[in-house]
Amino acid sequence: MTDFLSTGTLPEEYRDLALTVRDFARSVVAPVAAEHDANHTFPYEVVAGMADMGLFGLPFPEEYGGMGGDYFALCLALEELGKVDQSVAITLEAGVSLGAMPIYRFGNDKQKQEWLPQLTSGRNLAAFGLTEPGAGSDAGGTRTTAVADGGEWIINGSKQFITNSGTDITKLVTVTAVTGNTGGKKEISTILVPTDTPGFVAEPAYNKVGWNASDTHPLSFTDVRVPEENLLGERGRGYANFLRILDEGRIAIAALAVGAAQGCVDESVRYAKEREAFGQAIVRNQAISFKIARMEARAHAARTAYYDAAALMLAGKSFKKQASIAKLVASEAAMDNARDATQIFGGYGFMNEYAVARHYRDSKILEIGEGTTEVQLMLIGRELGL
Ligand SMILES: Cc1cc2nc3c(=O)[nH]c(=O)nc-3n(C[C@H](O)[C@H](O)[C@H](O)COP(=O)(O)OP(=O)(O)OC[C@H]3O[C@@H](n4cnc5c(N)ncnc54)[C@H](O)[C@@H]3O)c2cc1C
Repeated sequence: MTDFLSTGTLPEEYRDLALTVRDFARSVVAPVAAEHDANHTFPYEVVAGMADMGLFGLPFPEEYGGMGGDYFALCLALEELGKVDQSVAITLEAGVSLGAMPIYRFGNDKQKQEWLPQLTSGRNLAAFGLTEPGAGSDAGGTRTTAVADGGEWIINGSKQFITNSGTDITKLVTVTAVTGNTGGKKEISTILVPTDTPGFVAEPAYNKVGWNASDTHPLSFTDVRVPEENLLGERGRGYANFLRILDEGRIAIAALAVGAAQGCVDESVRYAKEREAFGQAIVRNQAISFKIARMEARAHAARTAYYDAAALMLAGKSFKKQASIAKLVASEAAMDNARDATQIFGGYGFMNEYAVARHYRDSKILEIGEGTTEVQLMLIGRELGL
C-alpha cells in the first residue's frame, strides 16, 4: 500500500516525527485502546508515554519546556494517533491546543512561567471552559459571571462538555465569564481557575456514545474566588481570544479526523483482502474495492485541506476559511469512512472491540465539537461575504 509519508513530500524532520508517533501509536496506544474504551478509563499510562516523547510541548518554544516545533508538527502527531485511538488523540489535542495554547498566546510572563512548563511537559493538563448549558454554537450566550471584588474575581455559573477537566492530573480550567456590560453588550473575559480552588467542582463524567477514554465533565462554579491577576489577556477580549484559539483548533481537529478516516482505510484494505465470501476475498468485488478507493480519496482530499490551512497559519496569513473547510471535510470524511469500513467488516464491524466499530462511534463528535458542521458552513459563508 502506498503510504503518504513515503511519498517524500514532507521535509525530513516532519516525516521522522510522524513515523515516531506512528510507531508509538501502533505499539503502545493500539494494544490498550479497546480496553480503555470498554471500561471508560482515562489512559494515564499512554498520556505519560506521550509526555515522555514531548508531544504536549510540540508547538511551544524551549524556554517554556516545549520542543520548539510548530502547529503542523502537532497536527501530524494527531493524525497518527487518530488512526488508532481518537480518545488518545483528543486528549493531546485538547491538552495542547485548548489547554496550554491560550496561556501561550494571551498570558503575561508570570502566567506563562507558572503554567506552561507543567503543561508542555504533559505532567499536568489544563482544560478549556467555553461551552455552557445554554451557550454552545452561540458561545456569546455565556451566563457564567465573574465579579471583581477586593482584588479577586468571584465566579458563579456552570460549563458543560469540558474535555480533560476532571483527570487526576488536571490542574487548571480556563473559563469565559461575563465581567460586565457595556451599552447592553456583554463584556466577556477569560479567567484562569486552578482546579483546587474552593467552590469549583468537576461533576461526574458523562456517559458518551464514543471517545470513551477521553475525560469529559460538566463543571460548576459556586463563589469561586481567584486573584484578580488570573485574568488571561485583556479584560473584555475573552470571547475574541477564544475564537482565535478555536480557529487554530479546527486545523488540529481536522488532522485528527484525517487520521480516523485513514485508519478506516487501512483497516478495510487489510480485512477485505483476508475475508473470503463466495470462494474469494471480498476485495475481488468492485463494490468493495470502489468503496475503499473512495474512502482513500476522502482521506487524501481532507489531508490536503488541513495541510493548506496549516501552511497559511504558519505563514502568518489569514487561515479562517481554510481551517473551517478542513474541519468540515475532514470530519465528514471520518464519519463517511467509519460507516463504510463498518459495512466492509460486516457483523464484526458491529463488535465494539474492533477498531472500525470504535471509529464508527467516535467519529460523530468530530462533526459537532469545536464548531458543528453548520457553524463551519456559517463561517465559510461569512468569509465569502454571504
Ligand atoms: C465530547 C465533547 C467534548 C467537548 N469538549 C469541549 C471543551 O473542551 N470545551 C468546550 O468549551 N466545549 C466542548 N464541547 C462542546 C462543543 O464544542 C459543543 O457541543 C458544540 O460547539 C455545539 O454546541 P451545543 O452542543 O450547545 O449545540 P447547539 O449550539 O445547541 O446546536 C444544536 C444544533 O443546532 C445547530 N445550530 C445552532 N445554531 C445554528 C445556526 N445559526 N444555523 C444552523 N444550525 C445551527 C448546530 O449546528 C447543532 O446541529 C465538547 C462537546 C463534546 C460532546
